Amino acid sequence: MEEFINDGDIIELLDTSKNPSPSRVREIIARAGELKGLGPEEAAVLLQVEDPELNDEICSAAHDIKNAIYGNRLVMFAPLYTSNYCSNNCLYCGFRRDNRTLKRVALTNEEIAEEVRILESQGHKRLLMLCGEQKGRKAFDSFIEAIEIAYGTMTDRGGEIRRINVEVAPQDIEGFKRLKQANIGTYVLFQETYHHDTYRIMHPAGQKADYLWRLTAMDRAMEAGIDDVGIGALFGLYDYKFEVLGLLSHAMHLDQKFGVGPHTISVPRLEPALNAPAAIKPPNPVSDADFKRIVAVIRMAVPYTGMILSTRERPEVRREVFKVGISQISAGSRTNPGGYHSGNEGMDDAAQFNLGDTRTLDEVILDISQEGHIPSFCTACYRLGRTGKDFMDLAKPGLIRKFCRTNAIMTYQEYLSDYASEETKRVGEELVRRLIKKTKKAGTRKLLEERLARIKNGERDLYI
Ligand code: SAM
Ligand code: SF4
Repeated sequence: MEEFINDGDIIELLDTSKNPSPSRVREIIARAGELKGLGPEEAAVLLQVEDPELNDEICSAAHDIKNAIYGNRLVMFAPLYTSNYCSNNCLYCGFRRDNRTLKRVALTNEEIAEEVRILESQGHKRLLMLCGEQKGRKAFDSFIEAIEIAYGTMTDRGGEIRRINVEVAPQDIEGFKRLKQANIGTYVLFQETYHHDTYRIMHPAGQKADYLWRLTAMDRAMEAGIDDVGIGALFGLYDYKFEVLGLLSHAMHLDQKFGVGPHTISVPRLEPALNAPAAIKPPNPVSDADFKRIVAVIRMAVPYTGMILSTRERPEVRREVFKVGISQISAGSRTNPGGYHSGNEGMDDAAQFNLGDTRTLDEVILDISQEGHIPSFCTACYRLGRTGKDFMDLAKPGLIRKFCRTNAIMTYQEYLSDYASEETKRVGEELVRRLIKKTKKAGTRKLLEERLARIKNGERDLYI
């Protein structure tokens, strides 16, 4: 296991980047506009900007980069918690083993299928499945079975899950091979904090206390053949500037070793959680303005890496950060196993943390549609094998945008036809009409019109 995060180097980089001159900052902003990404030194300079005017320039450049690569699409997903039993004791998490008042729940196979049917009947096509960390093979076997159940559960109205990403404890190579065989999309895992001392304090017990085992999880996942991996840091534990540079160092390490960086970066921010001291009083709280800058700098540094925002954030924060870099969002989430089942909605005593956005999927879709974003349920790349390096090779010349926009509109139309409320359908269909009109290439417009007509005639799951 190879260590590739050096705390001293990151701290020195931040020190030497303090008080950058406006011309240096603008030079870096201009370089980011070439869409080739930024090195850690350049990212450090952007993170050290204090001047509000320069900060606005950073956000505006990130906005342009987001639009150039992703357009105004937002890919939608829902988390599905299968169990909240955990043998670790992370100081920020409601699932920690010392939380004796948490109601412990491990869903049965039938309960998992029921949760999946509920999510499908809301219109979800992509899941992020996750659970607490438990020692031994049995819990992992059950998780693999849960993935199979979720893929195999359909509703009468054609509801189906088409891609499952997972967020489970780091495995050895054999374990990752089993996840790969279970047909997962992305393997997601957050380092939580890249700062070694803070990591030690926050993870006092259990397997998760081993920083290096966690840090090298993505290396093992990729060696086991998982093409798409998603990294993240839990903002609020340590200095956010350090964490951004940690994330970028991690991305660079994977890129250098495997020829492709992470598929996604997540930016969770600490939320209050039951009996979790570090969540009740975050050691390094991140303001909304700094949070926006985090998203903007990551977008500029790794322009082709998807960026994920969860319902931890309040709607007004979500709206702000969508503009500067987010490409995937969760909606209508519950963080307690069984939380989607109607009888369990108020079961906060089993939840991992509190949510900032408690709106339903349809309410979120209406809101983002009104803001001009295209909600996407697309799963085409993963199903056509456009993953890992193949995805990046396509993404870099901008081809992916062409596919993604068309696929996004088609899956949006499926949602509008099958699941939307009257109001969302009205707003959405108007947006689809505008998007067709705005499609410049005659061939693409014709294809889109033809496919949308087929969807309206009842065909489903069309993609290019
Ligand atoms: N147990 C596995 C693990 O720790 O990697 C699986 C994922 S855990 C259920 C999901 C993530 O939730 C953690 O990696 C952590 O970053 C995040 N999390 C935990 N407590 C949180 C809190 N109070 N606020 C926000 N996010 C939190
Ligand atoms: Fe367990 Fe994960 Fe929560 Fe830590 S973050 S206590 S490992 S569920």
